[in-house]
Amino acid sequence: MERTDVLVIGGSAAGIVAATTGKTFYPDKSFMLLRKEKQVMVPCGIPYIFGTLENSEQNIIPDAALTNAGITFKIDEAVSVDQEKKICATADGTEIAFDKLVFATGSKPSVPPWLKGADLENVFIIPKDKMYLDQLRDKLMDLEKIVVLGGGFIGVEVADELRKIHKDVTIVEMLPYVLNLAFDEELASKAQACLIERGVHVRSNVRVKELAGNGKVSDVIFSDGESIKADAVILSTGYRPNVSLAQQAGLEINQLGFIKVNEYMRTANKDFFAVGDCAEKHSFITRSQKGVMLASTACAEGRIAGMNLYKLST
Ligand SMILES: Cc1cc2nc3c(=O)[nH]c(=O)nc-3n(C[C@H](O)[C@H](O)[C@H](O)COP(=O)(O)OP(=O)(O)OC[C@H]3O[C@@H](n4cnc5c(N)ncnc54)[C@H](O)[C@@H]3O)c2cc1C
Repeated sequence: MERTDVLVIGGSAAGIVAATTGKTFYPDKSFMLLRKEKQVMVPCGIPYIFGTLENSEQNIIPDAALTNAGITFKIDEAVSVDQEKKICATADGTEIAFDKLVFATGSKPSVPPWLKGADLENVFIIPKDKMYLDQLRDKLMDLEKIVVLGGGFIGVEVADELRKIHKDVTIVEMLPYVLNLAFDEELASKAQACLIERGVHVRSNVRVKELAGNGKVSDVIFSDGESIKADAVILSTGYRPNVSLAQQAGLEINQLGFIKVNEYMRTANKDFFAVGDCAEKHSFITRSQKGVMLASTACAEGRIAGMNLYKLST
């Protein structure tokens, strides 16, 4: 059995910051970070691998931040956590005993369950997974007509990048304008006009009913019966917190699907914390629960947890 004082599960924004901050505040404690992927993408840079950057290698978080800080890291998947015994089991059969655990397991793309045809060939998502994204990038190179389903920040960024490499791109958005969840009409309409000027087609105020094709996607069908052709469809329809591990460990999940934490990012168990996209968030002003997942917030939460790992008692 391996042993560490602090185990951080997740090696992206929140996990790295929680581990490095924790190590700064508690230099005598041993820290281990466990993550699934060999190389971690800079999440906010992902859309740019489709156009501006030459390849995904230019968008990697260096491991030096961890190794220089004296944090050991292990590439493996946590498959279960025993809350009482404080042991994490991994996919390769290792058991890791810990004193404190930080869940930084992030989020995953969510595919609308009602969307018929989402399993057709050439229908893609945008996960934070280098291997998947490299394959996606290669495939898109040979395809022309690309439909991006969802006009939020990620859909807009991906579409704009694909346009830079001269793809025929259409964003389909059910709200009146792209970015309408974040901005009011005045600003969202300007952003939409800007995209159109850059050559991106936008079909807003329209609902997608299904994706059609014979094995491979060929058409996007709207609820009013109209349709457009597509060689590929990219689903950019949101992300959901990845909380299955914490749930299996018996930690509370709030009604929006995030791991329940207090203002110190601590769960009801004093030795278990959660940070980043998997952790509960509140509006800064009203304190009501929110579902916005951002890297900036993830880093702030990582810092809060890291600082408070051993300071909070009872
Ligand atoms: C395309 C895209 C663009 C974005 N652009 C922006 C932006 O411009 N600005 C912004 O603020 N935010 C942006 N975001 C959001 C931002 O990426 C997230 O808020 C941020 O990545 C959250 O970091 P995290 O560490 O909480 O989770 P994640 O980045 O999701 O990382 C989770 C980590 O946990 C690991 N993990 C999960 N389960 C296990 C397990 N069982 N065992 C071991 N490891 C596990 C994963 O491998 C990964 O390392 C973007 C997101 C995407 C997808």
